[in-house]
Amino acid sequence: MKITNHHSHTFRCKHAQGDAVDYVRHAFQGGASVYGISDHAPIPDGRYPEVRMAMEELDSYENAVRKAQSEFPEVKVLLGMECEYFPEFHHFYEDELLGQRGYDYLIGAGHYTPLEGSWQNSFANMDQPKMLNAYSRHLAEIMESGLFAFIAHPDLFGCSNEFWNDDLTSCSHDILSSAQATKTPLEINGYGMRKEPVQTSKGPRAQYPWPPFWELASEYKIEVVCNSDAHRPQDALACLDETRLLADRFDLKIADLSHLGSSPKQAIPLVA
Ligand SMILES: [Zn+2]
Ligand SMILES: [Zn+2]
Repeated sequence: MKITNHHSHTFRCKHAQGDAVDYVRHAFQGGASVYGISDHAPIPDGRYPEVRMAMEELDSYENAVRKAQSEFPEVKVLLGMECEYFPEFHHFYEDELLGQRGYDYLIGAGHYTPLEGSWQNSFANMDQPKMLNAYSRHLAEIMESGLFAFIAHPDLFGCSNEFWNDDLTSCSHDILSSAQATKTPLEINGYGMRKEPVQTSKGPRAQYPWPPFWELASEYKIEVVCNSDAHRPQDALACLDETRLLADRFDLKIADLSHLGSSPKQAIPLVA
């Protein structure tokens, strides 16, 4: 099977190390044929600056990815971005990133969940049914936007739950139904396997991917994407084998993303 990864970061997000070329060098040495750089996208109003690049860094980021493309022509290096979805910025993702700037793909992620008029951190409090409901509704909205090649770590609620329960089953059915209806692949994300494990009374387990979610996924006509979500160059291809094993265990179909980046886009000058 070809070695591919569509989720990696750079120092610009302030919680990752190295630049695009460092990741692609490791990926090349590890035999990758496709490597997507997908740092955390800036938000046009400057929200949450502590975990993402600034709008002013878009050009330098794109240049860094182009440099990696020219230094490692053996690898198909893709220009991507991992994005939060705020409906008021739909045009930024569609017209500027995918349009004028010619990004090869965008990843949709729900690191924040809209609840009762404010945005909550999705890494916490996902043991509350109202947060779980809000999260699955938000992921549905992200998928329905039609902007994203796949959804990052849909089972993020593994961070804030000790054991599986009926609320998680119902939230997962909602997410999986949306993925099937919108034909949006879901990511089995290896980064959660490299983070501090969740300590349960039955022993430690990875924060995510959480197997019961993927077992339910096997009841749906959906596809999955296996990624390292690298935040250090030496993790460029980390945990890909483990995420593929999980896909195999539940007989999940790997999405074919080979179309990404294959149609050269014409650079259109940015209009202010
Ligand atoms: Zn990150
Ligand atoms: Zn993420």
